[in-house]
Amino acid sequence: MQRLLLIKPGEIELKLGNRREFVRRLKDQIHQRLGSIPHLLEEYPGRFFLRCEQRHEAVARFVLEHCPGVNGVARAFVVDKTPEAIATAAVEAAREEAARGARTFKAETRRSDKSFPLDSYGMSATAGEAVCAAIPELSVDVHQPDFVLTLEIRERAYVYASTLPGPRGLPVGTQGKGLLLLSGGIDSPVAGYLMAKRGLALEAVYFHAYPYTSEEARHKVEKLACRIAAWTGGMQLWVVPFTDVQLAIKKGGREEANTTILRMAMMQAADMLAQRISAIAMVTGESLGQVASQTAQNMRLSQSTTTLPVLRPLIGIDKEDTILMAKRIGTYEISILPYEDCCVLFSPRHPVLKPDFEDISQYFRSLCLDAAIADAVQQADRVRFGYREVMQEFGVALEG
Ligand code: ATP
Ligand code: MG
Repeated sequence: MQRLLLIKPGEIELKLGNRREFVRRLKDQIHQRLGSIPHLLEEYPGRFFLRCEQRHEAVARFVLEHCPGVNGVARAFVVDKTPEAIATAAVEAAREEAARGARTFKAETRRSDKSFPLDSYGMSATAGEAVCAAIPELSVDVHQPDFVLTLEIRERAYVYASTLPGPRGLPVGTQGKGLLLLSGGIDSPVAGYLMAKRGLALEAVYFHAYPYTSEEARHKVEKLACRIAAWTGGMQLWVVPFTDVQLAIKKGGREEANTTILRMAMMQAADMLAQRISAIAMVTGESLGQVASQTAQNMRLSQSTTTLPVLRPLIGIDKEDTILMAKRIGTYEISILPYEDCCVLFSPRHPVLKPDFEDISQYFRSLCLDAAIADAVQQADRVRFGYREVMQEFGVALEG
């Protein structure tokens, strides 16, 4: 019996006006991530189907489970549209679930081909009886089944027992490209993940103050970028040497304003980089009031050095919830490695919570950082992560 991966697209089905564009992006994303792995991707209304050799299936599943725009993935049998063939496939799919310990199930039929001889109820009943007869340890429970046996009767018939969740959201690239300000902390990787799920392609920038921040800190950010790339479908990380800018800020002497000024300088550098890579938005991991530099007044200042929108998906999220997400997406254990991203040399003991906009803007201008910032961006180092590296990072075995 033939098997394929049945893909349930999500929100793109709602995009009436530009559905074609969303579908094209989703297919491109899947093709690009699979790279040289031979595969066939078919599209039908409301479903996509991916076929590849059995030995590549783990990779294909990884790709689909991390591809925004995908709501769910099922390993489905594809059979002729006859009640007998469908019932046989149902027994096969149920047998696998029983082997994993399932004891109860219910059958559900979705019939878009109205010429099929049995109605939905009749097909579910036929398959259910076949399963119970063939596998005595299984019985029907329509209220709390261990698994749902789904029978889809469409252009062909598809039979599957369990669906793996996809990331949902919108295909990467449908909302243009953003520049993620990626530190080694817990928040910014989660912010990147959330925006990738909303269809933003991403590149990342890390401001590195070597030797005040260590090579390990940089390595940690690279690892984080590689993990986020699982969702974005690859990643370019720009490492901007920011030591000179930081030293110039320190020399300015107003210690209490250092963090605010540093954020303004970072945003100005990010703005230059965004122009270079055609990004249309910035993304940060800020959350209102989480630390002194994340008050509304400080954000007004830090975003005043760019004209691009600054997207802050974590703005209203509590730290505990961000940590849960970071654990789920596999960035938490990297983020908590002990290489500090900010150096005591630059962190004021008493940062200002409510800076005066005019006063700090004036002070920022007086520091004349433009040349140092432009130099830093000029010297940026680019690190690329392709999907092969992503799969290695996640320990997915690539065969052949
Ligand atoms: P995170 O957990 O993301 O490090 P944080 O809670 O430590 O955030 P801040 O240090 O105030 O908060 O940083 C706020 C945001 O500024 C970060 O989420 C990130 O987007 C950006 N940022 C901070 N430091 C850097 C850096 N060295 N390079 C790039 N972006 C940075
Ligand atoms: Mg941080």
